Amino acid sequence: MRSASSLSKTITKLNLQKNKECWFCHTTNNLHHHEIFFGTANRKKSIETGMQVWLCGTHHNMSGHSVHHNHDMDLKLKQWGQMEFEKVYGHETFMNTFHKNYMKGDDNGI
Ligand SMILES: [Zn+2]
Ligand SMILES: [Zn+2]
Repeated sequence: MRSASSLSKTITKLNLQKNKECWFCHTTNNLHHHEIFFGTANRKKSIETGMQVWLCGTHHNMSGHSVHHNHDMDLKLKQWGQMEFEKVYGHETFMNTFHKNYMKGDDNGI
């Protein structure tokens, strides 16, 4: 057994992307690994739950059109991540893990 971690239920890592390619443009060049729910507490939980995607440098943080610099892109990715997570573990587990409902769109509190 691995250490129990901070998660209340046993959560195995999800594999969100079948292919190693940018989530936005599907390129396979210059890929960065991105934690969907980044930030102090959430980064670790993102890694533990597999809430990670491949992004090309441009769509990661090397342009204004990237998840780290564009609020709409970030939210879009987070909503998708939440949806994928909830398909497997349900809404309650998502809320207990990340404490925020990104589906509501009010993402200003980070
Ligand atoms: Zn890209
Ligand atoms: Zn990132």
